[in-house]
Amino acid sequence: MSLFRPDLLAKYDAAGPRYTSYPTAVQFTDTFDPAHYHRAAADPGAASADLSLYFHIPFCDTVCFYCGCSKIATKNRAHARPYLDRLKREIILQAACFDTARPVSQLHWGGGTPTFLSHDEMAELMAATAESFRLLPDAQAEYSIEVDPREASVETIGVLRELGFNRLSFGVQDFDLRVQQAVNRVQPLEMTQTVMSAARTEGFKSVSVDLIYGLPHQSVESFSRTLDTMITLAPDRLSVFGYAHMPSVFKMQRQIDETALPSPGARLAILERVIEKLTEAGYVYIGMDHFALPHDELAVAQRAGTLHRNFQGYSTQADCNLIGLGVSAIGKVGDVYAQNAKDMAGYAAAVDRGELAIARGVRLSADDRLRRDIITAIMCQFSLRFDAMEAAYGIRFDEAFADELERLKPLESDGLVNVTHDEFEVLPAGRLLVRNVAMIFDQYLAGNLAGNLAGNTPQRFSRTI
Ligand code: SF4
Repeated sequence: MSLFRPDLLAKYDAAGPRYTSYPTAVQFTDTFDPAHYHRAAADPGAASADLSLYFHIPFCDTVCFYCGCSKIATKNRAHARPYLDRLKREIILQAACFDTARPVSQLHWGGGTPTFLSHDEMAELMAATAESFRLLPDAQAEYSIEVDPREASVETIGVLRELGFNRLSFGVQDFDLRVQQAVNRVQPLEMTQTVMSAARTEGFKSVSVDLIYGLPHQSVESFSRTLDTMITLAPDRLSVFGYAHMPSVFKMQRQIDETALPSPGARLAILERVIEKLTEAGYVYIGMDHFALPHDELAVAQRAGTLHRNFQGYSTQADCNLIGLGVSAIGKVGDVYAQNAKDMAGYAAAVDRGELAIARGVRLSADDRLRRDIITAIMCQFSLRFDAMEAAYGIRFDEAFADELERLKPLESDGLVNVTHDEFEVLPAGRLLVRNVAMIFDQYLAGNLAGNLAGNTPQRFSRTI
């Protein structure tokens, strides 16, 4: 059975969350009480054994027009210094909330551009982290960083490995110069080749690359060339995102010439080619936009049924408590999601007062926890066993989710899912639409799937295809 069914993709293409959390960030409120965060952090019962640390480094030397990330455009490297000083204070404030004998099995620097920091600044940040938290040796650690090849040399890759990073992800998006110019991200192939080859030499365990389809001037032929080149570079993982053009939300996207964007039909044709080429090259479809070679730990975790999802996307780590550090960073501790101030002034003021910079968040209800588990199973395993939910939550699944099971029926008729009395499975034709399936169990969406199909969902989320 094929993953790619153009008729179904066109029919079900709708705006929807990516479910890096449930409830999603849209449900976070500024009435959230940070005392809930402190209680969750201190509660050994709610805490899983391991910690995960996320650091947000928001600076970018130049801005890519498609970007929807939280970032600060500046060429002034001096901005890094006060930010680094505040991160170091925040590390101490956060560490005071937790039992720091707990190991940090996962650590991630994202951005923005983490390699905007100098080599010395990066070393300083990692040293400050090691002073307050229990970092693990290489074999037990999953420490990753987003690297912009335009901001990294062979020496940078060596420095990152020495600092303890063992997974890298690179932004590429497209190798075609015309596309690169249209999105203000000119990055010659040689630059990407150089840092990828350095990552191999330094022994990084997994190298991941991001591409984007749906950018201006892309066609099936042009993107095929990008894919062919990428396949020769053989990254362990590939994320191929569909560009979400939302200029009313992301002002920088107004720089993109809408008339040069591929039509919906062309986007679908490009996606078809992506799936063809990557599966022919041996990549396994993980879910959402992610592909991995069979040896990669994401593919291994999916086969073992241990794949998870967090704010960075798919993850092999079990349900760690995630501590978010830096402006706009999101943490997940026990039944609490908490996000730092999204603006630098608010973040700086809180840390300067000696307080955590948490500005908004949400505390999960019992219903949220149940639905989070259901949505995680759908997104990561493409299946859901009702008895697992019944045993964990003391419910009768068919009674508690009678409405949702009813709303799955049209998807079942279309061959997206198969529902039996004790489980349901997302079939290959439904896998590219997995978030449409998850949306059925999201009680916060204003409308159900039919509502979305009628275009009733506000433009807070990107489209599913
Ligand atoms: S895509 Fe990355 S490098 Fe480009 S503006 Fe966004 S965060 Fe910065």
